[in-house]
Amino acid sequence: MIGISQPLIRKVRTGNEGITMKKFRCGDVVPGCTARFNGDEASILAAVAAHAGADHGLVEVPAELVAQVRAAMVDVAE
Ligand SMILES: [Zn+2]
Repeated sequence: MIGISQPLIRKVRTGNEGITMKKFRCGDVVPGCTARFNGDEASILAAVAAHAGADHGLVEVPAELVAQVRAAMVDVAE
């Protein structure tokens, strides 16, 4: 399975409120990729890890890439 080091996944949930919804375009990190993800940070990182394995052939997501993904995420306005 594809793994991301636990310290890199921070839950943004603070209860039923306070969930910060974000979006991420893989193309911001991997030029040409059209995949897009929406959700809270942990959900996006998990989805990106699966996508990176399925579509980009990464057996694991390096911390550097996780940092790039997190930096490229933007908040989604309600
Ligand atoms: Zn991609």
